[in-house]
Amino acid sequence: MQPTYTAEAEAYREKVQAFLAEKLPTDWKGIGALNGDEITRFVGEWRAILADARYLAPGWPAEYGGGGLSALEQVIVAEEFAKASVPTGGSNDVFGIQMLGNTLLQWGTDEQKAYYLPRILSGDDIWCQGYSEPNAGSDLSNLGLKATLDGDQWVLNGQKIWTSAGHLADHIFTLARTDPDAPRHKGISFLLVDMRQPGIDVRPIKMISGESEFNEVFYTDAVCPKENVVGGLNNGWAVAMTLLGYERGEAAATFPLKFQGEFDRLLTLARSKGVEKDPVIRQRLAWCYGKVQMMRYLGMRTLTQFTKGHHPGPDGGIFKLYWSEYHQVVTELAMDIAGLDGLVPTGRPPLSAFQTDDGGDPLSTASWAGTFLNSRAGTIYAGSSQIQKNIIGEMVLGLPKEPRPQEPRAQ
Ligand SMILES: Cc1cc2nc3c(=O)[nH]c(=O)nc-3n(C[C@H](O)[C@H](O)[C@H](O)COP(=O)(O)OP(=O)(O)OC[C@H]3O[C@@H](n4cnc5c(N)ncnc54)[C@H](O)[C@@H]3O)c2cc1C
Repeated sequence: MQPTYTAEAEAYREKVQAFLAEKLPTDWKGIGALNGDEITRFVGEWRAILADARYLAPGWPAEYGGGGLSALEQVIVAEEFAKASVPTGGSNDVFGIQMLGNTLLQWGTDEQKAYYLPRILSGDDIWCQGYSEPNAGSDLSNLGLKATLDGDQWVLNGQKIWTSAGHLADHIFTLARTDPDAPRHKGISFLLVDMRQPGIDVRPIKMISGESEFNEVFYTDAVCPKENVVGGLNNGWAVAMTLLGYERGEAAATFPLKFQGEFDRLLTLARSKGVEKDPVIRQRLAWCYGKVQMMRYLGMRTLTQFTKGHHPGPDGGIFKLYWSEYHQVVTELAMDIAGLDGLVPTGRPPLSAFQTDDGGDPLSTASWAGTFLNSRAGTIYAGSSQIQKNIIGEMVLGLPKEPRPQEPRAQ
């Protein structure tokens, strides 16, 4: 099988490649080749270039500052950016643009779209995601953050946890219980909350890697305007599920490229350690190579559906389960290849706590060790492996539903 794009799509690809060639430095090796301050400076400048060229939110309609691109064009942009190992935006844009922006386009009022979408693109508002709580992760509908209407505003009390990049954000989209008497899924609303107020307290959590990428967020009489409900009062569950679809959206286009890049770097590491001919290492490398190729075809299947207008629903769980489980195996292999050096990591740690390090990385042991540790979280965030299996079983394969806590098994 040799899948190809149409001539029209390939012409668009050349346009994107020309843009990257014109805007990136001539000696560009990938964001992973930059260090410390260089990275922050580059990402800030690059984000402005993308906003200018309308590549920051390629799928949004032009009237809101987006690129108005077709699904296929968006796929091509994502692929070319991933190949060049160049970011598609700033650190919190995945929350602001991909998750919230796309969700507002579907569920927001005209006023919400007109106010928030331009502010997301300009960087005036920086967003994070407030879904999980100490007693509501996999079982999200058990959430207890309470929102009570007091005149023209909601008053929020409770706690969120695992809020990625919450310390960098000034706004949080959050799920809150607005009707405590309604059945669990029915009494939830999706609220937009400004974090710059005394009632919000963000406390970083230290991760296994030593970094503090995520946080606890405490709400003590925090407020937001009455009209900041998205998608209607007590309809937050439907809005939340739309957003989760976007959370898993682009991976099909970019992950096979990122994981192929990581595999190529692993081969370089193996050669540098002189173990590439070791029969057991070769066998494990071959297994990883096969998995990356399958990931590519799995991605193509999702992309084919996406370009036909089908957004990843429950079947997106197959891809999530696949890459996150694979990543733990390949990074374990990397640590075995790094050997004793992996126990005393040196050099630059990974640029991101999620998935692979970026192309151009210096193959430091700190990069491999950090990626190995971060990969442990891959089978937890965006829905754990066990939950993906339940979703695939129940919603894709149509198997019987597992008994829910409130629905005791029939005798
Ligand atoms: C790095 C990272 C970043 C994150 N970022 C964010 C963020 O920005 N915003 C946010 O809101 N959340 C975020 N999360 C939270 C994430 O969504 C939750 O951790 C996840 O949904 C799992 O919930 P939990 O941690 O409460 O585990 P639990 O739900 O308590 O699960 C514990 C274990 O039980 C298993 N389990 C639970 N229910 C079932 C079942 N029905 N059947 C079989 N097994 C089951 C799970 O698979 C897991 O192994 C992040 C998490 C991580 C690790």
